[in-house]
Amino acid sequence: MTDAAGRRKLPKTYDPQVVEGPTYQRWLEMDAFRASTDGTRPRFSIALPPPNVTGSLHIGHALDHTIQDYLARMHRMRGDEVLWLPGMDHAGIATQNVVERELAKEGKTRFDLGREAFVERVWAWKAESGGRILGQMQRLGDSVDWSRERFTMDEGLSRAVREVFVTLYEQGLLYRGQRIINWCPRCLTALSDIEVEHEEIPGELAYLRYPLADGSASLVVATSRAETMLGDTGVAVHPDDPRYRGLVGRTVRLPLLGREIPVVADAAVDREFGTGAVKVTPAHDPNDYEIAQRHGLEAVDVFTEEAVVNANGGRFEGLDRYAARQAVKDALAAEGLLEKVTEAPHAVGHCYRCKTEVEPRLSLQWFVATKPLAAKAMDAVNSGETRFEPPRYVRTFFAWMESIRDWCVSRQLWWGHRIPAWYCPDGHVTVAREDPSACAECGSAGLRQDEDVLDTWFSSGLWPFSTLGWPDETEDLRAFYPTSVLVTGYDIIFFWVARMMMFGCHFQPPAPFRVVAIHGMVRDAQGKKMSKSFGNVIDPLELMDRYGTDALRFALIRGANPGSDVPLAPEWVEGARNFANKLWNLGRFVLSSIPEGTKPQDLPVSEPIDDGPAQALLGGRGGSELPPHRSGTPRSVLADRWLLSRLERTRAEVTAAYDAYDPAEAARLLHAFAWSELADWAVELAKPRLAAGGEDARRAGAVLAYALAVTLRLLHPVMPFVTEELGRALEDVDTITLGPWPAERPDDLDEAAEADMADLQEVIAAVRRFRAEHGVPPSRQPRLTIAAGGDHQSDLLRAERDSIRWLARLESVEVGPPPGDAGPTAKVLAAGAELHLPLAGLLDLDEELARLERERDGLDAEARRAEAKLANADFVAKAPPAVVDKTRARLAEVEAARAKVVERIQEVTATTGG
Ligand SMILES: [Zn+2]
Ligand SMILES: [Zn+2]
Repeated sequence: MTDAAGRRKLPKTYDPQVVEGPTYQRWLEMDAFRASTDGTRPRFSIALPPPNVTGSLHIGHALDHTIQDYLARMHRMRGDEVLWLPGMDHAGIATQNVVERELAKEGKTRFDLGREAFVERVWAWKAESGGRILGQMQRLGDSVDWSRERFTMDEGLSRAVREVFVTLYEQGLLYRGQRIINWCPRCLTALSDIEVEHEEIPGELAYLRYPLADGSASLVVATSRAETMLGDTGVAVHPDDPRYRGLVGRTVRLPLLGREIPVVADAAVDREFGTGAVKVTPAHDPNDYEIAQRHGLEAVDVFTEEAVVNANGGRFEGLDRYAARQAVKDALAAEGLLEKVTEAPHAVGHCYRCKTEVEPRLSLQWFVATKPLAAKAMDAVNSGETRFEPPRYVRTFFAWMESIRDWCVSRQLWWGHRIPAWYCPDGHVTVAREDPSACAECGSAGLRQDEDVLDTWFSSGLWPFSTLGWPDETEDLRAFYPTSVLVTGYDIIFFWVARMMMFGCHFQPPAPFRVVAIHGMVRDAQGKKMSKSFGNVIDPLELMDRYGTDALRFALIRGANPGSDVPLAPEWVEGARNFANKLWNLGRFVLSSIPEGTKPQDLPVSEPIDDGPAQALLGGRGGSELPPHRSGTPRSVLADRWLLSRLERTRAEVTAAYDAYDPAEAARLLHAFAWSELADWAVELAKPRLAAGGEDARRAGAVLAYALAVTLRLLHPVMPFVTEELGRALEDVDTITLGPWPAERPDDLDEAAEADMADLQEVIAAVRRFRAEHGVPPSRQPRLTIAAGGDHQSDLLRAERDSIRWLARLESVEVGPPPGDAGPTAKVLAAGAELHLPLAGLLDLDEELARLERERDGLDAEARRAEAKLANADFVAKAPPAVVDKTRARLAEVEAARAKVVERIQEVTATTGG
């Protein structure tokens, strides 16, 4: 819609549903988010943490993406060449689970299909139902470069994965070995240490008696998992433990199974635990495995992949581990070998995917030797190559990196990057960039590729450079690596940030990002974690439907203090919607206030309006021509000078907060400025001037329009849709999303104008407060006389009489000594001035007197009660000192309040002549 002047007309109310979709499409059509490698603009790049292909937008994404989007949009507006690169993660376990569940509905397993057909089926699933989140990212307004979208399983990224695997192998930083790994008996795969969630469970400690093989004595071991005794191959005691000195070197007979196992001395044994003698189960416990290595003990695996007892468990074969635990205890008890069972809560690892209890299991897997890689990553942080925001998260990073263990990267899945290792019939290993046809060692054919795939984090660890075309030396890599900033939650510092740092520093130095900006988790209004079981999960899509995308984004950003958790309640999103509506109404008002053909971006900077006071304003860019401070400020100019000064201050503070990764502060400042100063004060101050018409009206409208245009641009990174729609109409441009960012205008800073306006606001607020306290209806408009505090204030308030009259709803405003014969008058102090308001006709004095007397009597009664208490020696002696002090303080307050009421009664009495 356009008006007669051809300018866009805004509908009466803002409807996000009508504006958002088409606006995003328009941005895509104008290629607003596409990055170029040409030119010399400063580069700003972010690699979007790739959401899972199975995922759908949750509130955590909404926060993470909004922070990245504000950064991308702000830098784009500033003229940087911005690349925000999107993409998805293939999410090995999660995706395989989804497709396996689908198959289960058809009564099939992946083994019925076979590997090739299963993987095809996953790709088909991805094409059809995967990546729902990409459309949801568009709804959220993500200004990503869709032309560069990547997927961790696409051809280029798969080549990067292979290059890294082979190179690490060649460098001796990747190896295959027998280790105790974390095994999920449900997902049937190894898990890395960080994929295991440790949780305290009730648990028990069972004390088992093991007789010596010669029957001469016995010893007792304590264990939380009695069933693992089936895999015991030794008993260990501390070498300095006098209780067991005589037993070291002898053998015990393992109950139920009967095999003889040695008693060994090992310094790793904790003498305080249980009885000080521990059973050694090398195949099912990482510490036991190490003890076994030192003493040459055999490892006996007693479980199947599903954690069911296998043939090594004798008569317990076929029982799952929990049933076996009870059965083993029962059998021991029957033989009189179960000493006791005590309750003992302990931490147990659970699969982060399916929450099944993890089974430590001896297994042949591929590992990355992480220590040398971690050292490089730590160097990059120590040298300042990469910086954490807020810096306190450096400690978290270092804590993880210093205690890092070799990383198990093989997964017993079919969906993922298959490990590029081949085995010949003689057991030689060939690791190669191209699929080999013969063994690299003996040349024999008949190679068999490793069945396993790589941990998903192996490929996402390469994300900042693999997405730019690495290992090729591409234009993109040259232009946009290292990336400017990584934005992520503190929960994946180790999962993901650490891996990207290790791979980036090793394969494509320098470190992959200059800044790691950490944010918190979105929680409910009480700070509670959102979870299905609490029923407090907030769905971002629902909130966008109800209140609009800008409202959701603003509410999230406003709570996003750097590094801290972000509370969110739907009511706060509603409040942000009200803010969007306020801006809309403001935009409509301002548009109606500027003359045809006026573009606020040209005003008041380059288009002098007249040569009166405005000329001083506009010509005063150099500073010297500004009107002398605090003397005879022209009425119409003060509001403009003040608004422009506050605008410049807000611009500077907002820009600094955005730059400091503190968008919450930027949002707070913009909300306060737009709502209170611009919409409430500036618009109200402008209304009488606009109504009066002429050059001053034109200038008032232009300054308002200019201030709003700048505000919209400052707010655009956080609320892109409503600001784009308003900005286009107001400035008559195609878009504001390509900038420019509002320029610095230090000459607009005007402390004198801000001080004068503060006085003026205080005077107006004092009258408004008086009216509210006394219930004076808007229709009653008293005459105000102001005895100003000094000559300057006198000039100021005289010049601003019309503003005061209008904003405080007064019949007239005089500046001067109080009238001697005005009859009953209220006196109010404000900003060092005395405000005199004649009460006749304003209040019903008899009613007011009665009200004041009731108030006084109430205070009297309260004072008497407090005095009686304090006069009571018992109370003073026995009550806690804090209570006595509180009573004294309250009495003082009541007396002060009473004195004020009495003063008011005297005033009113004097005026009524009573
Ligand atoms: Zn699992
Ligand atoms: Zn061979």
